[in-house]
Amino acid sequence: MVIPVYNEEAGLDALVERVTAAAQAIFGNRYELILVNDGSKDSSWAGICAHAERDPRIVAINLSRNHGHQLALTAGLNHVRGELIFVLDADLQDPPELLGPMLEQVRAGYDVVYGQRIKRHGETAFKRGTASLFYRMLASLVDTHIPRDTGDFRLMTRRVVDQLNAMPERYRFIRGLVSYIGFNQTAFPYERDPRFAGETNYPLRKMMALAVDAITSFSVAPLRFASHLGMLFGLAGLTSLVGIVWVWMRGGTVEGWASLAALILIMGSVQLLVLGVFGEYLGRMYMEAKQRPLAIVAEIRRHPVAANAEPEIAVPDIAVVAATDPEPREDIRVAG
Ligand code: UDP
Ligand code: MG
Repeated sequence: MVIPVYNEEAGLDALVERVTAAAQAIFGNRYELILVNDGSKDSSWAGICAHAERDPRIVAINLSRNHGHQLALTAGLNHVRGELIFVLDADLQDPPELLGPMLEQVRAGYDVVYGQRIKRHGETAFKRGTASLFYRMLASLVDTHIPRDTGDFRLMTRRVVDQLNAMPERYRFIRGLVSYIGFNQTAFPYERDPRFAGETNYPLRKMMALAVDAITSFSVAPLRFASHLGMLFGLAGLTSLVGIVWVWMRGGTVEGWASLAALILIMGSVQLLVLGVFGEYLGRMYMEAKQRPLAIVAEIRRHPVAANAEPEIAVPDIAVVAATDPEPREDIRVAG
């Protein structure tokens, strides 16, 4: 299990308690819970360490600073072992108790069982509205089918996580990458609970950034937008030219300054807009080309018992095809 944690001190104990109860009921001691501290500013890391000291099944990973949700999750996925990987948020919005029913689906032959929200409790109408608008826009731009109203709450088999770990890109929209990977995937409808404690770490700014990441990682349609705009404006220009010639043939002239000024402003802004879209892609190419590590891990803490002996990790009775040994990726750098 992998859970990214950022400033979640208020709900951490409840989280560990519920997740542990849910996993223990199914796997006994044969599982591990990875808590990735994403540079929290509160006492989350101390809390995670305390849990890891008490429970050999808990692994505490500390990132060197705040890397953001998707990269924190990536770091966790890179370290998790076992044949089945369960991902959830730290705020208990995704009920850990659904592990059992989701596991049923995996046993039925699915590689990815993703939670799909049919109801969101305790989220503002604004958040629900923007989220729904975003998923609709994404669907219209992107060829990969990325299911609506899903988050990163999902149960995946090892072969899916291995594929995910093999993807080098740093602008990671993990739910999209998982859709891209394929195999057998199914939705698991659930009602999203309100946050147990604390506040959302996804303000509008981060949501916008995630939306732009999602669109640019899966589509080049916005680049085509430039040629479409060009054709549209060319057509508008031709039409007005015909109008001007018509007026001129009847001996008149078209009055000028205001319309010219408006045209110059419109043309200028359209060109800058298109340049901006180009820049968005170019900047991403530049950042990817640097090949910097995706995330930097400062420290990994395991219980002494778990650190000495490789813990047995649950291999439930499912057919896992072509599961390879996870090679640790090179771009998650472990310091020290
Ligand atoms: N998170 C993180 N790094 C960040 C922001 C968030 O690891 O920079 C974690 C956070 O602790 C939680 C998950 O990502 O486990 C989802 O965040 P949140 O609940 O704030 O988002 P929301 O559910 O409101 O979209
Ligand atoms: Mg949340």
